[in-house]
Amino acid sequence: MLRAMRALAVVCVVSVAFLALSAAQESCPNCLHQGVLPCKDHVDVPGAEEEPSPGNPMLYCSWAADCEKCGGTLFVDCPRCDHGERSDAVAERARLIRSWLDNSPLEKALGRRVPRLESERYQIAVDVDELPNDERARKKLSGHQLAHQLVRDLEHVTAKVAEHYQMTPADYRAKMRMWFWTTIEDHQQAQRSFQGTLTTGDFKLLGRDPVFSVWKEPGLFDTAPKIRALFAHNAGHMLLSNAFQPTWVGDIGGGWLDAGLGHWYEYELFGLTVNTCLEESSLSSDYEGGRWRAAVRKRLEKEKDPFLPGLLPKRTGAYSMPEKALCWSFYDWLLAAHPGVVRKLMLDLKQQKPAREVLQQHLGMDVFALEDAWRAWVSANYPLKGDEPRSEPKKRK
Ligand SMILES: [Zn+2]
Ligand SMILES: [Zn+2]
Ligand SMILES: [Zn+2]
Ligand SMILES: [Zn+2]
Repeated sequence: MLRAMRALAVVCVVSVAFLALSAAQESCPNCLHQGVLPCKDHVDVPGAEEEPSPGNPMLYCSWAADCEKCGGTLFVDCPRCDHGERSDAVAERARLIRSWLDNSPLEKALGRRVPRLESERYQIAVDVDELPNDERARKKLSGHQLAHQLVRDLEHVTAKVAEHYQMTPADYRAKMRMWFWTTIEDHQQAQRSFQGTLTTGDFKLLGRDPVFSVWKEPGLFDTAPKIRALFAHNAGHMLLSNAFQPTWVGDIGGGWLDAGLGHWYEYELFGLTVNTCLEESSLSSDYEGGRWRAAVRKRLEKEKDPFLPGLLPKRTGAYSMPEKALCWSFYDWLLAAHPGVVRKLMLDLKQQKPAREVLQQHLGMDVFALEDAWRAWVSANYPLKGDEPRSEPKKRK
């Protein structure tokens, strides 16, 4: 009996202690028993932008991780209590961030820290302090702000590609690595470590482990809008060189599809397309100010000889800008008039099947019938002036 009473007393004491403890936690008005408070040191890029959300699938950011107060977790310990509901999760997040920071092949190759961030599909390095955000340099973006803007741009392209190609998680093979350097020396050092050959302009590796690298080349890639357009354009090439099976179709009979898609995703995001396709940054040439609808329509209505037979066999790097505009338009038509077909075309082109055969099989038309259908659609949908499509392609649910 005595023993039972003692046991009861112990239980009572423990319960009282427990109640007192939880009351103490619940009564911490400072953190609402979370144990942590939001870190207020994230001003350049707001803390909310560091966290994953629809359209912004962020994973890690080295600028945020450099925060002395929170180490990138975005939370600091509550000074008025010891522990709360969120304390363990924040500690675990801190551990993951440290591990991410300490395991970068790029940093190992260069032997130094590189400002960078990682999202669902991209590893982006922006080794540039700040950049003009417009041609007249009235506003500047910090490297950190630019990196976050790039994540949003690139993940937008990725979402469009995923919609057009009905991507599933199993279709992706690698993360896209995209780097931007202040000096040509750093660009070349990175390139030497990951490619073996050197270029003065931008370079990219397509296929199995895509990499894109470029430096702040005066006059070419020296403003944030130029970098954003360049990255969006190349993200399309990289993603689709890597997806399904890691084979770039640009030089095995799918140049027309590859050139078309690179311009399409850049154009869709920015309302114009000004980039070229392959290491020819220094040859970058303007065609119709990057707004192509009226020019393409006028050309197709004036020149009656079919274009497709000449376009289909070329490699991506062999097209002139006016030819790329035609490839872009043909891709535009494929997406609008035959939703879902680009996945089938891409899969077969990666198997090195001839373009004419693949098109005939999946669209049920020979090259000349295709050309007629594409031209009719262009006349019905592109304006003769300006650049607004007459009717938006129907959105599929
Ligand atoms: Zn507290
Ligand atoms: Zn950040
Ligand atoms: Zn912080
Ligand atoms: Zn391109």
